[in-house]
Amino acid sequence: RNEGLGSWPARRARKTPDAAALVHGGRTITYAGLLARVSGLAHGLRDLGVRHGDRVGYLGPNHPAFLETLFAAGTLGAVFVPLNTRLAGPEIAHQLADAGVSVLVHAPSHAGLVDGVRDRAPVREHVALDGPGPWAHGYEEVRARGAEAGAAPIDVPVSLDDPCMIMYTSGTTGAAKGATLTHGNVTWNAINVLIDHDLTAGEVALVSAPLFHTAGLNMLALPVLLKGGACVLVPAFDPAATLDLVAGHRVTFMFGVPTMFQRIAREPGWDAADLSSLRILTCGGAPVPPSLIETYQKRGLTFLQGYGMTEAAPGTLFLDAAHAESKAGSAGVPHFFSDVRVVAPDMTDVPPGETGEIVVRGPHVMRGYWGRPDATAAAFTDGWFRSGDAARLDEDGYAYIVDRIKDVIISGGENVYPAEVEHAILADPDVLECAVIGVPDETWGEVGRAVFVPRPGARLTGDAVLARLDGRLARYKIPRSAVAASELPRNASGKILKGRLREEYGEP
Ligand code: ATP
Ligand code: MG
Repeated sequence: RNEGLGSWPARRARKTPDAAALVHGGRTITYAGLLARVSGLAHGLRDLGVRHGDRVGYLGPNHPAFLETLFAAGTLGAVFVPLNTRLAGPEIAHQLADAGVSVLVHAPSHAGLVDGVRDRAPVREHVALDGPGPWAHGYEEVRARGAEAGAAPIDVPVSLDDPCMIMYTSGTTGAAKGATLTHGNVTWNAINVLIDHDLTAGEVALVSAPLFHTAGLNMLALPVLLKGGACVLVPAFDPAATLDLVAGHRVTFMFGVPTMFQRIAREPGWDAADLSSLRILTCGGAPVPPSLIETYQKRGLTFLQGYGMTEAAPGTLFLDAAHAESKAGSAGVPHFFSDVRVVAPDMTDVPPGETGEIVVRGPHVMRGYWGRPDATAAAFTDGWFRSGDAARLDEDGYAYIVDRIKDVIISGGENVYPAEVEHAILADPDVLECAVIGVPDETWGEVGRAVFVPRPGARLTGDAVLARLDGRLARYKIPRSAVAASELPRNASGKILKGRLREEYGEP
């Protein structure tokens, strides 16, 4: 019996065979169509030697094949390994070896890169989306061959405790770590999302966040597919195109990291666009500036912050729609089947209003990092996953994320959380983007330095940026220096790479 994700297409096809599941380019795949494609692919992958526990990788932008490969791997009890399309050859080779990927599906955009690392990776069989080649099978050929042979449905027992995917963290604070998520972890997370956002089978999700990161896949695509809604798959995020897609497909549900929502709201078409279909906008993955929330609320949209991490599959906190306004700025309350605490270093709960570390426990939290027992042991205390993020709770139990504990600047013995300073700087309409880092200082130990991107055409000096903070932030929080930059280094999830900034701007 397959209890895992591999059984979802069949269960959905039994319930709503003719409903749209995936929309991509001009093509719509129904749930019955998805089941047929996944069954064929599962047979094809089995013919290529994939067995229970083997790892099947995917490298490419958002595309139906991403989800088909995930479900086909799940049908065989194999572990799905989505790879980050922005990684360079050596990094890809490292992750392929780290996860022990034996069969890799890749998109045409990445054929050259895969070819370049073939001799360094453990991959036995390559499958190319655009057809067979000298060293790769063709995706449609593998699938069709499987569909022909596929008289008897595949019946591999898969339990909720079996690993479903190895998902790499965003690599914001260092090298990405592979979180091993079981079928149970992913299923419970999807159930949490569909309970807490009241998803319906009428949902139309715009999936423009990359599926290889946890939010696009687990906060958006999979919960919607579990409930029987439709996913519009977009290969690359484009803010102007997003406005058209929302209106064209009557999109109801979107997820984005803050920078995506910022870029959408800066589009010339923003004021006129028809956004009336949007019901659920969830935003998380990085600190959410209050100025951004205001922009969306002024447009009449319910904008909900969420908080999570790859290791928790990822949904941990969410803001309920009923409190979108009264608790604006909060990341909300724990998901339905999730337990969250804010604790001191000794694991005692801190009182409301005080800052501590978020820890999380629940059926959605991973058992561990793939092949890294030491990192796993270090990440848990008494069964609670240590997020490494600072937060405080208000009297009603609503959480406010402060920042990553690693990024805190200790200036003259005072803790300065960069996110608070960044939000104050971003309230300045002449500033497009900003990040604050600590630089060594003889007197204070460390002082803040702001790196900001001015709005095109704005004449803004670093001193002017700092002067505008006077009276808005306590003196010790105001950075000592501010430098203009043309852009900030970000990873594929759109998060600012503070390590890279420290290398470039961290000299005293
Ligand atoms: P790595 O662990 O490899 O350094 P990462 O932590 O960025 O990368 P993810 O699992 O994608 O990898 O992101 C989880 C992190 O994102 C959280 O631990 C937190 O720091 C940040 N985050 C998520 N949601 C929010 C939010 N609403 N506000 C502030 N930060 C958030
Ligand atoms: Mg992390």
